[in-house]
Amino acid sequence: MSLHSDPFLNISKSIKNSYIEEWQEESKKVIGYYCTYIPEELLYAANLLPFRIRATGNRDTELGDIYMVRFTCSFVRATLDLALKGVYDFLDGFLVCNSCDHSRRMFELFDLKVFNREGFNKKVPRFYLALPHIITHEGFEWYKKEVEELKTEIEESYKISEISNLKLLESIKVHNKNRNLLRAIHDLRIQSGPKLTGSEVLQINMTNASIPKDVANSELERILKLLKERQAIGIENKKRILLVGSVVDNIEFIQLIENSGGFVASDFLCFGTRNFLDDVNLQNGESPLDSITRRLYYRISCPRMMDDHERRLDFIKKEIKRANIEGVILQRINNCDLHGCDNMLFTHELKELEIPVLNIDREFYMADTTRLQTRIEAFLEMI
Ligand code: SF4
Repeated sequence: MSLHSDPFLNISKSIKNSYIEEWQEESKKVIGYYCTYIPEELLYAANLLPFRIRATGNRDTELGDIYMVRFTCSFVRATLDLALKGVYDFLDGFLVCNSCDHSRRMFELFDLKVFNREGFNKKVPRFYLALPHIITHEGFEWYKKEVEELKTEIEESYKISEISNLKLLESIKVHNKNRNLLRAIHDLRIQSGPKLTGSEVLQINMTNASIPKDVANSELERILKLLKERQAIGIENKKRILLVGSVVDNIEFIQLIENSGGFVASDFLCFGTRNFLDDVNLQNGESPLDSITRRLYYRISCPRMMDDHERRLDFIKKEIKRANIEGVILQRINNCDLHGCDNMLFTHELKELEIPVLNIDREFYMADTTRLQTRIEAFLEMI
């Protein structure tokens, strides 16, 4: 039985969901954010519901294109398009970090064009988190200050007397449990005789970033039990693929690979492994907030961290062995310079290791499916 119709996975097919409605009915706030370099544990400890902004299902960028030229990331433009159409009006807060120049622009554009547009009367606090692009001790000290300032701004904006260490510790426990459950599900995917498809895993990760984490944890426990009882999915003639690169929040792209003779056995994506590989480890004498910041800053990185390519390559090499990978698909959304650079380096490095690799550019909204399918099929036949 496919998991795609499971109510938990179904949530990923839309933007807003019933858990958000219930949450707001209790006069609690929802804060939208881009990128995984955001201290979710801090938001949750403030009794805010962190909602990861995505453009799932949107095939359009026409309104977004009014304010962002077309040689920018179509994922970001598609999210802006949805926001200008009112799809993100349910947000009670908005948090952006300088993950890349494309998503960073959303800080101004959501303020000027989304939350100040005619007919929109809700006051939505905006927050900005500056994150260094290299990993150094000084950078960590900088980022700690940024997160501490964010904590103060959140307390002021939502009139919270203080986000206590106790609340932060509770939130760390919930989020570490969440990541542990996602890793357990990941293990059932990478094993020989996998229990779920790459597109089902993506849905699980997207839903997980759209609802309260304690609810997600009980649902993930249910799904984990269900998967353990489930027969292995049939992938006999399929090639085991590792998918790497730009944000993927559209199962159609993974289904394109899985309907072309591949099985996406693992990934190195921000709606994937990059989100759950590392836990918050409380350090003696360190505040819970600094431990949260330490995890975010020193965890397995994305290409925005300019001096950390070697560690990313090392992860990919280990995952190729661990998941018994037969080929790597490197993908980037057009104009995504961060993943473009990393993918170009990976292409050479993986070829030297004689690992079949395909490097493709694409638009966010599956514009050129036929071209993509032809290239993917040819690659899978070649392996
Ligand atoms: S895909 Fe690239 S350009 Fe688009 S938001 Fe992610 S990092 Fe930025």
